[in-house]
Amino acid sequence: MSKRIVIAIDGPGGAGKSTIARRLAVRLGFLYIDTGAMYRAVALWAERQGVDWDDRLAVEQLAIAAEIGLSSNPLQVVLNGEDVTEAIRRPEISQGASKVSAIGGVRRALVEKQRTMAESASVVMEGRDIGTVVFPNADVKIFLDAAQDVRAERRMKELGEKAPPPPPRERVITELQERDERDRTRAESPLLQAPDALLVDTTRLSIEEVEEAILKIIREKTANGKEFVRS
Ligand code: C5P
Repeated sequence: MSKRIVIAIDGPGGAGKSTIARRLAVRLGFLYIDTGAMYRAVALWAERQGVDWDDRLAVEQLAIAAEIGLSSNPLQVVLNGEDVTEAIRRPEISQGASKVSAIGGVRRALVEKQRTMAESASVVMEGRDIGTVVFPNADVKIFLDAAQDVRAERRMKELGEKAPPPPPRERVITELQERDERDRTRAESPLLQAPDALLVDTTRLSIEEVEEAILKIIREKTANGKEFVRS
């Protein structure tokens, strides 16, 4: 069997991680793993069970028990047998995910599931701690970032396309700021660029340009890159 490859993509919300990671996975024929969707699924389950997002012990138990399935084609998130792809995208769940993800026990439970998912296939995995904690030995580590106003603009567009009209700009900016601040300053696996991750600033780049830039990095970083990077 050929060597399994792990491509780790980290960065704050709205930097373009999901779009890029998904496109790369299709291009490379790898599994796409959206780890943020897993934290969102736990937050959704807690909300439905009436469990407070700050109740560390109870939320940890849910994270351990949660059966989370991710598929890339069609793009689907399944929680305990139920399709929650849309339900986890609500703005309140974004905040809830950011809260439950600060709990150490929740992180340990989900990191274990993430590592298991990558046992049998090459993956493009995106999140906040993939290159630092989940796969510190990942073959390629990318840190995607963009100016805050650009990230807010992208988030507004995304939300507006799903459920028009788009939410007020000020609210999107405030929510993004709150989440970033919590993700960057938490004690457990804070969002940070791994020392050996390559920074890709997507502020002025199109999706295609980012994709090509990262494919180039993958080709350079992996010994047999030309064999698996389909052009
Ligand atoms: O990527 P997404 O915005 O869907 O992630 C939702 C939240 O889940 C993030 O704000 C972050 O708090 C948390 N998260 C995390 N670690 C990951 C992925 C997401 O803490 N690897």
